[in-house]
Amino acid sequence: RESARLFLRRNTFVLFTVAAVALGVVLGFGLRPYKLSIREVKYFSFPGELLMRMLQMLVLPLIVSSLVTGISSLDSKASGKMGVWAVIYYMVTTFIAVFIGIIMVVIIRPGKGNRDSPVSSSGNIEPVQAADAFLDLIRNMFPPNLVEACFKQYKTVYKKTVFTKNMTISNSTSNLTQVLQTIQETVEEMVPMPGSSGGVNALGLVVFSMCFGLVIGNMKQQGHALREFFDSLNNAIMHLVSIIIWYAPVGILFLIAGKIVEMKDLAEVGGQLGMYTVSVIVGLLFHGLVVLPLLYFLVTRKNPYSFIGGLLQALITALGTSSSSATLPITFRCLEENNHVDKRVTRFVLPVGATINMDGTALYEAVAAIFIAQVNNMELDFGQILTISITATAASIGAAGIPQAGLVTMVIVLTSVGLPTEDITLIIAVDWFLDRLRTTTNVLGDSLGAGIVEHLSRQDLQNQDAEIGNSVIEE
Ligand code: ASP
Repeated sequence: RESARLFLRRNTFVLFTVAAVALGVVLGFGLRPYKLSIREVKYFSFPGELLMRMLQMLVLPLIVSSLVTGISSLDSKASGKMGVWAVIYYMVTTFIAVFIGIIMVVIIRPGKGNRDSPVSSSGNIEPVQAADAFLDLIRNMFPPNLVEACFKQYKTVYKKTVFTKNMTISNSTSNLTQVLQTIQETVEEMVPMPGSSGGVNALGLVVFSMCFGLVIGNMKQQGHALREFFDSLNNAIMHLVSIIIWYAPVGILFLIAGKIVEMKDLAEVGGQLGMYTVSVIVGLLFHGLVVLPLLYFLVTRKNPYSFIGGLLQALITALGTSSSSATLPITFRCLEENNHVDKRVTRFVLPVGATINMDGTALYEAVAAIFIAQVNNMELDFGQILTISITATAASIGAAGIPQAGLVTMVIVLTSVGLPTEDITLIIAVDWFLDRLRTTTNVLGDSLGAGIVEHLSRQDLQNQDAEIGNSVIEE
């Protein structure tokens, strides 16, 4: 009985959260027959919207304070090594994810046969070329204005506008007859646009905070005040997280129920789209539950599933919010409190991971692009599949950790191999659902990555602990 009580005490939040998901599903399906209007669904999901807002509110100070403290508290050698391990992990796992996606879609061939649905074409905005999107990715790393980076991403749109000019031209040969001639001129404009909804330029803030943390770390005594400030800010934010976490189950319940109430009839998702959905789901499950845990086990020799057990609340929050950056506060808590990952590692690795490491998104982008090629009866050669793998990786790095960001960055992958961008409309109907699953995979990848990087950096961390111990004794 004592152990049952202990189990309940340790896992209260997880149990609440799991119960909230179950209740949300029941409530959602229970309300579907009543065919609520869009407004009624909005009112109904309001408690969920509030959770989303609370979590998003914390993301910005959390990213900046955790990165600055994380990096400034490591010596530059240790942070350099940790950074290299993290980048290797991100690259390897993202490529494996893309590879799994490609295998799935090539084996299952969801797009074979005649296409199911018609496609509407988009106005006069030119599709962004892969090269433009790459440049935007790099542009976003260096925001010209830090305050602006807190609420705006940079995104270039090429707009073609046709101007019609009436010009009067004197025609000498036809003896002073005035000829009215209309000249049409096409003007190409390059328009910087704010990013998709709530587009914090997390990438820019991550780059700035990392550099800032490095500099503060090197400033030794002079940087002390700033180090203390950001450390204290980080602790305060984590206290706020521990308050918000009480509300999380309620928010998740309504987020899930609301979505189930408003979703289209499942029966409509048949044929090619159904098989496409299956390809993405099987790929994500295989990557998240087999490949990543295996990698974790091979590196650390510890049980990956008990590590994943400690992450349950973060995973469910990702499922409920569709946003890896909104889930970030909860991911921090799960890793530090449940899995006891060193704070120097989580503070460094998690904000970077939530911004650039998105295995689920990369897998989905590859499947979606090849699916669209199949629907168009386009045979892809090896070079084109390789291009898709590279651009799917870039698109996952460029996607912000917000709902359905991956759908927007799909354009890069499609244009890189000459596929019609309007065909994105083919997959929109199921994207809300796949988005939740890929976000969960993204969060899982970041978290297992933190565990792996901690293991690989343990020697450096121990050395640093010993140095700090020595200096305390000397004092
Ligand atoms: N929603 C995903 C995330 O936040 C990004 C995506 O749309 O793929 O991780």
